[in-house]
Amino acid sequence: MQEKLLTDTEINYKEIKEKITEAAKSAGRDPEDIRLMAVTKTVATEKINIAINSGCDLLGENRVQEFLEKYESYDKNAEVHFIGSLQTNKAKYIVDKVSMIESVDSIKLAEEIEKRCEKIDKIMDILLEVNIANEENKGGFSPEEVVGISEKINDFPHLRLRGLMTIGRFGAEIEETRQYFKKMRHLLVDIKSKNRDNIYINILSMGMSGDYELAVSEGATIVRVGQGLFGARKYV
Ligand SMILES: *Cc1c(COP(=O)(O)O)cnc(C)c1O
Repeated sequence: MQEKLLTDTEINYKEIKEKITEAAKSAGRDPEDIRLMAVTKTVATEKINIAINSGCDLLGENRVQEFLEKYESYDKNAEVHFIGSLQTNKAKYIVDKVSMIESVDSIKLAEEIEKRCEKIDKIMDILLEVNIANEENKGGFSPEEVVGISEKINDFPHLRLRGLMTIGRFGAEIEETRQYFKKMRHLLVDIKSKNRDNIYINILSMGMSGDYELAVSEGATIVRVGQGLFGARKYV
């Protein structure tokens, strides 16, 4: 009988799951409350399917065009969240194919998703993207404005606010990142307390390959991992 060799993606998936479980337990959290998202940008479909077959049930897509080319080749029905910056004129291509848009970063985009979802009679789960370090060239709402923005989302009948997402600051030291993650958790509490329609607000999407364990310690419910799972990205 031939022994089956595990691929790198299978090994990485298992290791990351274990590390999430450990980080959750040390923080007194239930590991079941944290979802591991496989971030698929630039990754070949075969590799993505290996992750799905290893147990990954959540994919994160950044680019509309790449997603449209790949998604029909994905195995089974892994759930897909859109996590990249989304031009308003592209929203119409994805609203029927994703279960959540995590990267809502303007009211204009929220209006467009509302309009497109009304057309297909769908209520879309969304997260508001927060530019937590107030970086100049970064998308997302400032921490100061996001609570007010969250209240406006109540006016959109086809949007359901589920929580917040952040990318953090690239190159930040671990203690700085920890402060951002803490701030995100406090913002989620604020938003929950200020919104009347708040029973669904319970998602904090933060932490990537380099800091997902820290994010779990600080309350993340979705961690978004690309290179840690699939290896270094090669951009063409
Ligand atoms: C690429 C990307 C990730 C994953 O980054 P890695 O460093 O590869 O883990 C997470 N979130 C967003 C929004 C991304 O664009």
